[in-house]
Amino acid sequence: MPALERVLITGGAGFLGGHLCDRLIADGAEVLCVDNLLTGRAGNVAHLTDHPRFRFIHGDVAEDLHLDGPLNAVLHFASPASPKDYLELPIDTLKVGAFGTHHALELAGEKDARFLLASTSEVYGDPLVNPQPETYRGNVNPISPRGVYDSAKRFAESMTMAYHRYHGLDTRIVRIFNTYGPRMRRDDGRVISNFIVQALRGEPLTVHGDGSQTRSFCYLDDMVEGLLAVLSHPSDRTREQRMDRAFLHNNTEAEDSIHHPINLGNPEERSVLEIARIVREATGSRSPLTFLPRPVDDPRVRRPDISRAGRLLGWTPRVPLEEGIRRTVAYFRDLLARG
Ligand code: UDP
Repeated sequence: MPALERVLITGGAGFLGGHLCDRLIADGAEVLCVDNLLTGRAGNVAHLTDHPRFRFIHGDVAEDLHLDGPLNAVLHFASPASPKDYLELPIDTLKVGAFGTHHALELAGEKDARFLLASTSEVYGDPLVNPQPETYRGNVNPISPRGVYDSAKRFAESMTMAYHRYHGLDTRIVRIFNTYGPRMRRDDGRVISNFIVQALRGEPLTVHGDGSQTRSFCYLDDMVEGLLAVLSHPSDRTREQRMDRAFLHNNTEAEDSIHHPINLGNPEERSVLEIARIVREATGSRSPLTFLPRPVDDPRVRRPDISRAGRLLGWTPRVPLEEGIRRTVAYFRDLLARG
């Protein structure tokens, strides 16, 4: 693939999408950012709007996606991603995972562009195996409220692999585990942003259930590095080889193919109660804890096995949780002070 000269990011005004726009602009690419601003915010890319290599397109990729000119890569990041959002927007979540992914893949095919799907640790559901390697097939309830996100992303992965196998597209799938950092929405409902905002306001920290459930949190900068490493990794097959239908029956794809899903996340696993403690320390807050019911099918544990990312990309996250939370607290402190 030529250098990333012209790149499209769907969901480019989202939390991760916005940071990817920044990074790709800094790396010298022309960046086209499409977003319907349902859960993304124009503010995430406002500082780029006057940049000569940046263009914001207000549009819904679940409806259609057409673009003039060449593209080297399509990064498909459009989707509600916080449980609070996808529980409130179930149909939009399913539509962007299905139709949005279809449109983005069609565009990548038309432009002969590399395609990167932002998938999720939610494809493992409420896992019965911990940590989760990419080979784990998950424990998902398709009809539970959060099944809309899990199924949308599972469908998106299947569609991406089908375009890879049947149309020879150069595709990549990343399963993104919990990621946090500056520019999270203060009201997006996730545990780190909720706890920090509550602690800074002196309000009780809302712990779901008894707080013993675990997650593994990756700082944003580490995630962006990982995403770029996946995106820029060379393809392990030529287009002709990728289109060779024989391997559909012989299953000759290498196990460590860059075209198979890759977990990205920080394997440092913590309970929700530990997160509450770290946030209280980082903010100096004396907010009490308040215990609320646990959401339906809320995963009990989650931790990525990132050995594949290490082997293939030499990538490993570097920012410890306490340090990342301190940086995120500084962001929210400033945000709240400005009203
Ligand atoms: N959680 C919590 N209090 C909150 C928000 C979330 O205890 O105010 C819990 C949630 O139930 C889950 C974990 O924290 O067990 C992580 O939730 P989050 O929404 O951040 O991400 P998820 O991993 O569920 O997508």
